[in-house]
Amino acid sequence: VTDYAIFLLDRTGHVTSWNSGAQRIKQYTADEIMGKHFSNFYTPEDREKGMPQYVLKQAEEHGHWQGEGWRVRKDGSKFWSSVVVTALRDEEGQLTGFSKVTRDITDRKELLDKLHRHMAELERQVEERERTNAELEAFSYSVSHDLRAPLRAIEGFASALKEDYGSQLDETAHDYLHEIISASTRMNRLVRDLLEYGRLSRIEIIPQTVAVRPLVRQLLHEGPAEYKTATLTGDKDSSVLAHESTLAQVVMNLISNAFKFHAIGVAPQVEINVENTGRGLVRIAVKDCGIGISPEHQEKIFKIFERLHGFNEYPGTGIGLAIVKRGIERMGGKVGVESQPGKGSTFWVELPSSLEKGI
Ligand code: ADP
Repeated sequence: VTDYAIFLLDRTGHVTSWNSGAQRIKQYTADEIMGKHFSNFYTPEDREKGMPQYVLKQAEEHGHWQGEGWRVRKDGSKFWSSVVVTALRDEEGQLTGFSKVTRDITDRKELLDKLHRHMAELERQVEERERTNAELEAFSYSVSHDLRAPLRAIEGFASALKEDYGSQLDETAHDYLHEIISASTRMNRLVRDLLEYGRLSRIEIIPQTVAVRPLVRQLLHEGPAEYKTATLTGDKDSSVLAHESTLAQVVMNLISNAFKFHAIGVAPQVEINVENTGRGLVRIAVKDCGIGISPEHQEKIFKIFERLHGFNEYPGTGIGLAIVKRGIERMGGKVGVESQPGKGSTFWVELPSSLEKGI
Protein backbone atom coordinates (compact mmCIF):
# COMPACT_ATOMS: atom_id res chain seq x y z
CA VAL A 1 0.00 0.00 0.00
CA THR A 2 1.65 3.22 -1.07
CA ASP A 3 -1.29 5.63 -1.02
CA TYR A 4 -1.50 5.41 2.75
CA ALA A 5 1.16 5.67 5.42
CA ILE A 6 0.40 2.70 7.66
CA PHE A 7 2.52 2.22 10.76
CA LEU A 8 2.38 1.03 14.34
CA LEU A 9 3.25 2.82 17.55
CA ASP A 10 3.97 1.42 20.97
CA ARG A 11 1.93 2.56 23.97
CA THR A 12 3.97 5.75 24.35
CA GLY A 13 3.99 6.66 20.68
CA HIS A 14 7.29 5.27 19.37
CA VAL A 15 7.27 3.84 15.84
CA THR A 16 7.40 0.02 15.79
CA SER A 17 6.56 -0.72 12.15
CA TRP A 18 6.69 1.27 8.91
CA ASN A 19 5.28 0.55 5.43
CA SER A 20 6.36 1.78 1.99
CA GLY A 21 3.44 4.26 1.89
CA ALA A 22 4.74 5.81 5.10
CA GLN A 23 8.18 6.10 3.54
CA ARG A 24 6.74 7.70 0.40
CA ILE A 25 4.57 10.21 2.24
CA LYS A 26 6.84 11.08 5.18
CA GLN A 27 10.22 10.45 3.47
CA TYR A 28 11.81 8.52 6.38
CA THR A 29 13.13 5.00 5.72
CA ALA A 30 12.18 2.35 8.25
CA ASP A 31 15.75 2.40 9.62
CA GLU A 32 15.62 6.13 10.20
CA ILE A 33 12.34 6.25 12.04
CA MET A 34 11.93 2.96 13.91
CA GLY A 35 12.01 3.63 17.63
CA LYS A 36 11.56 7.41 17.18
CA HIS A 37 8.57 9.21 18.65
CA PHE A 38 5.71 9.97 16.27
CA SER A 39 5.57 13.58 17.47
CA ASN A 40 8.33 14.12 14.86
CA PHE A 41 5.54 14.21 12.26
CA TYR A 42 3.78 17.15 13.91
CA THR A 43 4.42 20.86 13.47
CA PRO A 44 6.27 22.57 16.35
CA GLU A 45 3.05 24.47 17.21
CA ASP A 46 1.03 21.24 17.45
CA ARG A 47 3.77 19.63 19.51
CA GLU A 48 3.73 22.58 21.88
CA LYS A 49 -0.03 22.27 22.25
CA GLY A 50 0.42 18.60 23.20
CA MET A 51 -1.44 17.39 20.14
CA PRO A 52 0.40 14.01 19.80
CA GLN A 53 -0.37 13.09 23.43
CA TYR A 54 -3.95 14.25 23.03
CA VAL A 55 -4.44 12.06 19.94
CA LEU A 56 -3.15 8.93 21.71
CA LYS A 57 -5.26 9.65 24.78
CA GLN A 58 -8.41 10.07 22.68
CA ALA A 59 -7.68 6.84 20.77
CA GLU A 60 -7.07 5.00 24.04
CA GLU A 61 -10.29 6.29 25.62
CA HIS A 62 -12.60 5.98 22.62
CA GLY A 63 -10.99 3.16 20.63
CA HIS A 64 -9.89 5.47 17.84
CA TRP A 65 -9.25 9.08 16.85
CA GLN A 66 -9.82 10.61 13.47
CA GLY A 67 -8.87 14.04 12.19
CA GLU A 68 -7.19 16.27 9.66
CA GLY A 69 -4.26 18.60 10.03
CA TRP A 70 -0.83 19.74 8.90
CA ARG A 71 1.99 17.20 9.25
CA VAL A 72 5.71 17.58 8.55
CA ARG A 73 7.87 15.47 6.22
CA LYS A 74 11.49 14.64 6.86
CA ASP A 75 12.65 17.57 4.72
CA GLY A 76 10.50 19.96 6.76
CA SER A 77 7.84 20.43 4.06
CA LYS A 78 4.23 20.24 5.18
CA PHE A 79 1.28 18.27 3.87
CA TRP A 80 -2.36 18.20 4.86
CA SER A 81 -3.22 14.82 6.26
CA SER A 82 -6.24 12.76 7.06
CA VAL A 83 -5.42 10.52 10.01
CA VAL A 84 -7.01 7.57 11.79
CA VAL A 85 -5.39 6.29 14.97
CA THR A 86 -6.72 3.07 16.45
CA ALA A 87 -5.86 1.65 19.88
CA LEU A 88 -4.56 -1.96 19.81
CA ARG A 89 -5.28 -4.26 22.75
CA ASP A 90 -4.20 -7.77 23.68
CA GLU A 91 -6.57 -10.59 24.62
CA GLU A 92 -6.87 -9.29 28.19
CA GLY A 93 -7.80 -5.87 26.88
CA GLN A 94 -4.47 -4.30 27.83
CA LEU A 95 -3.30 -1.50 25.55
CA THR A 96 -0.37 -2.68 23.44
CA GLY A 97 0.01 0.27 21.10
CA PHE A 98 -1.63 2.06 18.22
CA SER A 99 -2.02 1.71 14.51
CA LYS A 100 -1.92 4.87 12.48
CA VAL A 101 -3.15 5.37 8.93
CA THR A 102 -2.29 8.68 7.32
CA ARG A 103 -3.26 9.97 3.91
CA ASP A 104 -1.87 12.98 2.09
CA ILE A 105 -4.91 15.02 1.02
CA THR A 106 -3.12 18.30 0.35
CA ASP A 107 -4.58 18.49 -3.18
CA ARG A 108 -8.11 18.13 -1.87
CA LYS A 109 -7.44 20.61 0.90
CA GLU A 110 -6.03 23.15 -1.58
CA LEU A 111 -9.04 22.69 -3.81
CA LEU A 112 -11.42 23.09 -0.89
CA ASP A 113 -9.55 26.15 0.36
CA LYS A 114 -9.75 27.64 -3.12
CA LEU A 115 -13.47 26.90 -3.22
CA HIS A 116 -13.98 28.50 0.17
CA ARG A 117 -12.01 31.55 -0.91
CA HIS A 118 -14.14 31.86 -4.05
CA MET A 119 -17.30 31.43 -2.03
CA ALA A 120 -16.23 34.08 0.48
CA GLU A 121 -15.37 36.44 -2.38
CA LEU A 122 -18.74 35.79 -4.03
CA GLU A 123 -20.56 36.41 -0.78
CA ARG A 124 -18.61 39.63 -0.32
CA GLN A 125 -19.55 40.76 -3.83
CA VAL A 126 -23.22 39.91 -3.30
CA GLU A 127 -23.22 41.80 -0.01
CA GLU A 128 -21.55 44.78 -1.63
CA ARG A 129 -24.03 44.77 -4.49
CA GLU A 130 -26.95 44.50 -2.10
CA ARG A 131 -25.58 47.39 -0.09
CA THR A 132 -25.09 49.52 -3.22
CA ASN A 133 -28.58 48.61 -4.40
CA ALA A 134 -30.09 49.52 -1.06
CA GLU A 135 -28.19 52.83 -1.06
CA LEU A 136 -29.28 53.60 -4.62
CA GLU A 137 -32.85 52.75 -3.79
CA ALA A 138 -32.83 54.89 -0.67
CA PHE A 139 -31.34 57.70 -2.75
CA SER A 140 -33.88 57.43 -5.56
CA TYR A 141 -36.66 57.18 -3.01
CA SER A 142 -35.65 60.36 -1.26
CA VAL A 143 -35.07 62.20 -4.55
CA SER A 144 -38.48 61.12 -5.86
CA HIS A 145 -40.03 62.12 -2.59
CA ASP A 146 -38.37 65.55 -2.59
CA LEU A 147 -39.40 66.14 -6.20
CA ARG A 148 -43.03 66.04 -5.23
CA ALA A 149 -43.28 69.40 -3.45
CA PRO A 150 -41.80 71.58 -6.26
CA LEU A 151 -43.82 69.58 -8.75
CA ARG A 152 -47.03 70.34 -6.90
CA ALA A 153 -46.09 74.01 -6.93
CA ILE A 154 -45.53 73.97 -10.73
CA GLU A 155 -48.84 72.22 -11.31
CA GLY A 156 -50.70 74.47 -8.86
CA PHE A 157 -49.36 77.75 -10.24
CA ALA A 158 -49.85 76.67 -13.86
CA SER A 159 -53.48 75.82 -13.11
CA ALA A 160 -53.93 79.11 -11.21
CA LEU A 161 -52.44 80.98 -14.17
CA LYS A 162 -54.86 79.30 -16.52
CA GLU A 163 -57.89 79.92 -14.34
CA ASP A 164 -57.16 83.44 -13.13
CA TYR A 165 -55.38 84.93 -16.12
CA GLY A 166 -56.53 82.66 -18.94
CA SER A 167 -58.61 85.40 -20.54
CA GLN A 168 -55.58 87.72 -20.78
CA LEU A 169 -53.37 85.15 -22.53
CA ASP A 170 -53.13 84.68 -26.26
CA GLU A 171 -53.20 81.32 -28.02
CA THR A 172 -49.43 80.78 -27.91
CA ALA A 173 -49.36 81.41 -24.16
CA HIS A 174 -52.19 78.90 -23.78
CA ASP A 175 -50.16 76.34 -25.74
CA TYR A 176 -47.15 76.92 -23.47
CA LEU A 177 -49.35 76.55 -20.43
CA HIS A 178 -50.76 73.33 -21.81
CA GLU A 179 -47.20 72.02 -22.31
CA ILE A 180 -46.28 72.92 -18.72
CA ILE A 181 -49.33 71.18 -17.30
CA SER A 182 -48.97 68.03 -19.38
CA ALA A 183 -45.22 67.79 -18.70
CA SER A 184 -45.78 68.12 -14.97
CA THR A 185 -48.57 65.52 -15.07
CA ARG A 186 -46.15 63.19 -16.81
CA MET A 187 -43.45 63.85 -14.25
CA ASN A 188 -45.96 63.28 -11.47
CA ARG A 189 -46.71 59.87 -12.92
CA LEU A 190 -43.01 59.12 -13.18
CA VAL A 191 -42.36 60.08 -9.57
CA ARG A 192 -45.37 58.08 -8.41
CA ASP A 193 -44.22 54.96 -10.29
CA LEU A 194 -40.64 55.34 -9.08
CA LEU A 195 -41.80 55.61 -5.49
CA GLU A 196 -43.98 52.56 -6.02
CA TYR A 197 -41.08 50.60 -7.51
CA GLY A 198 -38.84 51.51 -4.55
CA ARG A 199 -41.60 50.71 -2.07
CA LEU A 200 -41.99 47.23 -3.56
CA SER A 201 -38.48 46.21 -2.55
CA ARG A 202 -38.93 47.45 0.99
CA ILE A 203 -42.39 46.28 2.02
CA GLU A 204 -42.74 43.08 3.93
CA ILE A 205 -44.45 40.47 1.78
CA ILE A 206 -46.61 38.16 3.85
CA PRO A 207 -48.37 35.82 1.43
CA GLN A 208 -52.04 35.18 2.01
CA THR A 209 -54.65 33.24 0.13
CA VAL A 210 -56.05 35.42 -2.64
CA ALA A 211 -58.92 34.25 -4.85
CA VAL A 212 -57.80 35.27 -8.33
CA ARG A 213 -60.97 35.75 -10.35
CA PRO A 214 -62.79 37.97 -7.81
CA LEU A 215 -59.66 40.14 -7.66
CA VAL A 216 -59.46 40.46 -11.46
CA ARG A 217 -63.18 41.15 -11.70
CA GLN A 218 -62.87 43.95 -9.16
CA LEU A 219 -59.93 45.49 -11.05
CA LEU A 220 -61.89 45.44 -14.31
CA HIS A 221 -64.85 46.98 -12.54
CA GLU A 222 -62.80 49.79 -10.97
CA GLY A 223 -60.86 50.62 -14.15
CA PRO A 224 -61.83 52.80 -17.13
CA ALA A 225 -65.07 51.94 -18.96
CA GLU A 226 -63.27 50.02 -21.75
CA TYR A 227 -62.00 47.47 -19.19
CA LYS A 228 -65.56 46.09 -19.05
CA THR A 229 -65.03 44.66 -22.55
CA ALA A 230 -62.33 42.27 -21.28
CA THR A 231 -63.25 38.61 -20.96
CA LEU A 232 -62.31 36.48 -17.97
CA THR A 233 -61.83 32.75 -18.58
CA GLY A 234 -60.39 29.63 -16.93
CA ASP A 235 -60.59 28.12 -13.45
CA LYS A 236 -63.26 29.73 -11.32
CA ASP A 237 -61.87 28.74 -7.94
CA SER A 238 -58.13 29.24 -8.31
CA SER A 239 -56.47 30.98 -5.44
CA VAL A 240 -52.82 31.87 -4.96
CA LEU A 241 -50.46 32.63 -2.12
CA ALA A 242 -49.74 36.30 -2.65
CA HIS A 243 -49.59 39.76 -1.18
CA GLU A 244 -52.98 41.01 -2.29
CA SER A 245 -52.25 44.67 -3.04
CA THR A 246 -49.02 43.78 -4.88
CA LEU A 247 -50.84 41.19 -6.97
CA ALA A 248 -53.59 43.73 -7.72
CA GLN A 249 -50.99 46.23 -8.89
CA VAL A 250 -49.22 43.65 -11.04
CA VAL A 251 -52.40 42.50 -12.78
CA MET A 252 -53.59 46.09 -13.18
CA ASN A 253 -50.33 47.04 -14.93
CA LEU A 254 -50.70 44.11 -17.35
CA ILE A 255 -54.33 44.96 -18.07
CA SER A 256 -53.57 48.62 -18.66
CA ASN A 257 -50.74 47.72 -21.09
CA ALA A 258 -53.02 45.25 -22.89
CA PHE A 259 -55.53 48.05 -23.49
CA LYS A 260 -52.84 50.61 -24.37
CA PHE A 261 -50.61 48.94 -26.96
CA HIS A 262 -52.88 48.50 -29.96
CA ALA A 263 -52.84 50.16 -33.39
CA ILE A 264 -54.76 53.39 -33.83
CA GLY A 265 -58.35 52.77 -34.84
CA VAL A 266 -58.33 49.13 -33.75
CA ALA A 267 -60.53 48.30 -30.77
CA PRO A 268 -58.53 46.43 -28.09
CA GLN A 269 -59.56 42.87 -27.29
CA VAL A 270 -58.33 41.62 -23.98
CA GLU A 271 -58.73 38.20 -22.40
CA ILE A 272 -57.62 37.27 -18.92
CA ASN A 273 -57.20 33.58 -18.29
CA VAL A 274 -56.65 31.93 -14.92
CA GLU A 275 -55.41 28.31 -14.95
CA ASN A 276 -54.03 25.82 -12.47
CA THR A 277 -50.89 24.51 -14.16
CA GLY A 278 -51.08 21.22 -12.25
CA ARG A 279 -47.60 21.77 -10.80
CA GLY A 280 -48.81 23.60 -7.71
CA LEU A 281 -48.88 26.86 -9.62
CA VAL A 282 -51.57 29.17 -10.91
CA ARG A 283 -50.97 31.05 -14.15
CA ILE A 284 -52.67 34.36 -14.79
CA ALA A 285 -52.35 35.31 -18.46
CA VAL A 286 -53.36 38.64 -19.98
CA LYS A 287 -53.79 38.33 -23.73
CA ASP A 288 -54.27 41.16 -26.19
CA CYS A 289 -54.55 41.43 -29.96
CA GLY A 290 -52.39 44.54 -30.08
CA ILE A 291 -49.15 45.58 -31.73
CA GLY A 292 -47.05 42.75 -30.28
CA ILE A 293 -43.35 42.77 -29.40
CA SER A 294 -40.51 41.39 -31.52
CA PRO A 295 -38.48 38.57 -29.89
CA GLU A 296 -35.31 40.62 -29.39
CA HIS A 297 -37.17 43.09 -27.16
CA GLN A 298 -39.14 40.62 -25.09
CA GLU A 299 -36.59 40.36 -22.29
CA LYS A 300 -35.50 43.95 -21.94
CA ILE A 301 -38.98 45.44 -21.56
CA PHE A 302 -39.05 44.06 -18.00
CA LYS A 303 -36.16 46.37 -17.09
CA ILE A 304 -36.90 49.73 -15.59
CA PHE A 305 -37.28 52.64 -18.10
CA GLU A 306 -37.17 50.32 -21.15
CA ARG A 307 -39.80 51.48 -23.64
CA LEU A 308 -40.13 50.62 -27.31
CA HIS A 309 -42.10 53.70 -28.33
CA GLY A 310 -42.02 57.46 -27.94
CA PHE A 311 -44.15 59.09 -25.30
CA ASN A 312 -46.36 60.77 -27.89
CA GLU A 313 -47.13 57.48 -29.58
CA TYR A 314 -47.94 55.56 -26.39
CA PRO A 315 -47.71 57.45 -23.08
CA GLY A 316 -46.09 55.72 -20.12
CA THR A 317 -43.11 55.73 -17.77
CA GLY A 318 -41.41 52.41 -18.60
CA ILE A 319 -41.71 51.33 -14.97
CA GLY A 320 -44.89 49.21 -15.17
CA LEU A 321 -43.32 45.90 -16.22
CA ALA A 322 -40.37 46.41 -13.83
CA ILE A 323 -42.97 46.66 -11.05
CA VAL A 324 -44.65 43.49 -12.38
CA LYS A 325 -41.37 41.56 -12.37
CA ARG A 326 -40.17 42.74 -8.98
CA GLY A 327 -43.59 42.28 -7.38
CA ILE A 328 -44.00 38.74 -8.70
CA GLU A 329 -40.45 37.70 -7.87
CA ARG A 330 -40.81 39.02 -4.33
CA MET A 331 -43.86 36.76 -4.00
CA GLY A 332 -41.84 33.78 -5.23
CA GLY A 333 -43.39 33.65 -8.71
CA LYS A 334 -42.35 34.02 -12.33
CA VAL A 335 -43.28 36.29 -15.22
CA GLY A 336 -43.02 35.92 -18.96
CA VAL A 337 -44.37 36.98 -22.32
CA GLU A 338 -45.28 35.30 -25.58
CA SER A 339 -45.75 37.67 -28.45
CA GLN A 340 -45.57 38.17 -32.18
CA PRO A 341 -45.32 41.58 -33.79
CA GLY A 342 -48.68 42.60 -35.22
CA LYS A 343 -50.46 39.61 -33.71
CA GLY A 344 -50.69 40.54 -30.04
CA SER A 345 -49.08 39.54 -26.77
CA THR A 346 -49.77 37.31 -23.81
CA PHE A 347 -48.12 38.40 -20.59
CA TRP A 348 -48.30 35.78 -17.86
CA VAL A 349 -47.42 35.46 -14.20
CA GLU A 350 -47.23 32.26 -12.16
CA LEU A 351 -47.69 32.08 -8.41
CA PRO A 352 -47.92 29.20 -5.94
CA SER A 353 -51.43 27.85 -5.62
CA SER A 354 -52.79 28.25 -2.10
CA LEU A 355 -54.14 24.70 -2.29
CA GLU A 356 -50.57 23.38 -2.30
CA LYS A 357 -49.80 25.07 0.99
CA GLY A 358 -47.83 22.82 3.31
CA ILE A 359 -47.07 20.18 0.64
P1 ADP B 1 -45.02 51.69 -20.06
O1 ADP B 1 -46.28 50.95 -20.31
O2 ADP B 1 -45.17 52.77 -19.04
O3 ADP B 1 -44.33 52.14 -21.29
P2 ADP B 1 -44.01 49.15 -19.14
O4 ADP B 1 -42.83 48.87 -18.30
O5 ADP B 1 -45.35 48.71 -18.66
O6 ADP B 1 -43.98 50.70 -19.38
O7 ADP B 1 -43.76 48.52 -20.58
C1 ADP B 1 -42.50 48.67 -21.20
C2 ADP B 1 -42.65 48.57 -22.70
O8 ADP B 1 -42.99 47.25 -23.07
C3 ADP B 1 -43.73 49.43 -23.26
O9 ADP B 1 -43.31 50.76 -23.45
C4 ADP B 1 -44.03 48.72 -24.58
O10 ADP B 1 -43.08 49.08 -25.54
C5 ADP B 1 -43.83 47.26 -24.22
N1 ADP B 1 -45.12 46.62 -23.87
C6 ADP B 1 -45.61 46.39 -22.65
N2 ADP B 1 -46.81 45.76 -22.71
C7 ADP B 1 -47.07 45.58 -24.01
C8 ADP B 1 -48.17 44.98 -24.75
N3 ADP B 1 -49.22 44.44 -24.13
N4 ADP B 1 -48.08 44.99 -26.10
C9 ADP B 1 -47.02 45.50 -26.73
N5 ADP B 1 -45.98 46.10 -26.12
C10 ADP B 1 -46.00 46.13 -24.77
